[in-house]
Amino acid sequence: MPDTAIVQTTPLEPCLDERKLAAALSGSHLIGGHLVPSVSGKTFPVVNPATGQQVAVAAEGDAADVDAAVADSARAQKEWARMPSRKRGALVAQCAGLIRTHVEEIARLIALETGKALRTESRVEANTVADVLEFFGGLGSEIKGESVPFAPNVLSVTVREPLGVVGAIIPWNVPLLLMSLKIAPALVAGNTVVVKSAEEAPLAVLRICELMNRILPPGCFNMLSGFGPECGAPLVTHPAVRKVTFTGSVPVGRIVAKAAAEKLIPVTLELGGKSPMIVFADCDFEKTVAGALTSMRFTRQGQSCTAASRIYVERPIFDRFVAAMAERVDAMVMGDPLDEATDIGTIISDDQMDRVKGFIAEGMATPGATGRACSAMPSAPELASGKFIQPHIFTNLPPDSRLVREEIFGPVTCIFPFDEAEAVLNAANDSEYGLAASVWTNNLKIGLEFAHRLEAGLVQINQNLVVQANLSYGGVKSSGLGKEASLESMLEHFTHKKTIMMNYA
Ligand code: ADP
Repeated sequence: MPDTAIVQTTPLEPCLDERKLAAALSGSHLIGGHLVPSVSGKTFPVVNPATGQQVAVAAEGDAADVDAAVADSARAQKEWARMPSRKRGALVAQCAGLIRTHVEEIARLIALETGKALRTESRVEANTVADVLEFFGGLGSEIKGESVPFAPNVLSVTVREPLGVVGAIIPWNVPLLLMSLKIAPALVAGNTVVVKSAEEAPLAVLRICELMNRILPPGCFNMLSGFGPECGAPLVTHPAVRKVTFTGSVPVGRIVAKAAAEKLIPVTLELGGKSPMIVFADCDFEKTVAGALTSMRFTRQGQSCTAASRIYVERPIFDRFVAAMAERVDAMVMGDPLDEATDIGTIISDDQMDRVKGFIAEGMATPGATGRACSAMPSAPELASGKFIQPHIFTNLPPDSRLVREEIFGPVTCIFPFDEAEAVLNAANDSEYGLAASVWTNNLKIGLEFAHRLEAGLVQINQNLVVQANLSYGGVKSSGLGKEASLESMLEHFTHKKTIMMNYA
């Protein structure tokens, strides 16, 4: 922690006034168990995307803050690694308990800063953080090795050791869940962590870090806010950071991977997706239409790398399917993210608004294509400058359209009819991405065959849930490198295997 740091305090008790909590968290990183400002004193605004109003400022970190946070984490790591792994796990699980008592405030805070609806998204995410911490907290005794038959009179064993300080860089779309999938296994395995939050969503991440720091020894979990090149990049290149785990865009993933390669440190990358959903005519129609809404993550404004942004429907049910889907999306309520009645909140930022609108305009201008805007824009005057975009369903787009090939990260899906199984499988696999896919059919034989042949890290049949604890999650092709969320991922990505041989002849 910098010597000159001004240490802030916040309420420990759950604070259901999200604006008050945002103000209390304003302008701080968390280093060494304390909320501290940037060394430079710089901050940047945090804006509520539903109203356009500033709700707080975030500390603007740079290389000096990275130095302070990493040095503190490196100091803490030595002792943390010596603690029995079950004890580490127990502390992480204890953090889950504390977070559970703060779920509502965390949910309100994340809704305030990201525009994700409280009922459909933010509360779910806050609860999932506790689940993930609980799950990994129970795995302390799984940090174990093997005994290897090498020679008589030689006892040969492997042990799992932590890597050291882990740099974790997270995005804004599901910041809490994605952070928990990184910090929980890293900590239980004996590493310490410095998280760099996304510039658009620093507050709830900071609150979770602060709550966990009331239980974990200081320095085990430090957090910085700031911009990518100024704060994220020095975290990746810092010599004491021995592992980087990153979730974000493909171009930045490449930058991070190159920097990690330069240092010869391991890296885990969770990148984009253009996930196909394949619907056969024999599916359970109603369940599948409902599944298309969740698959497309309309309640998250489509801001999900697993969003079913390409939906292929067998021709006999195509028209009915498109009509039913549009009708269902029409019934979803767009509005104030903090209102319990709201299904769909806002887009995160002006940049994303422009990007998504650009795709929609291009789709609308495509000859022969049809784009249907669904649901209704909110009418409340206080939301007039909110970043709302109606969900759009496109049909008749050519397969080489940018809308079909590129990740939009907005509430836009493209639906195509198909006639033949082999052709649709090829179309689904014809993408640079390979994160997730789903198949909807009552023919288990075809479902399983597709599951095996779809090029994706996660394939689901007759459902499309988000990432779940203990199911390995991660992509192939440009969607990423390495897996998260499971016991194996903790062992593979947050420990190294040391061989110890003892000759007792
Ligand atoms: P998105 O388009 O979803 O914002 P990005 O890949 O730009 O995705 O950002 C994901 C995370 O990576 C954010 O925390 C961002 O600040 C960080 N980031 C951006 N550029 C860099 C960089 N050059 N080095 C390290 N981190 C970066």
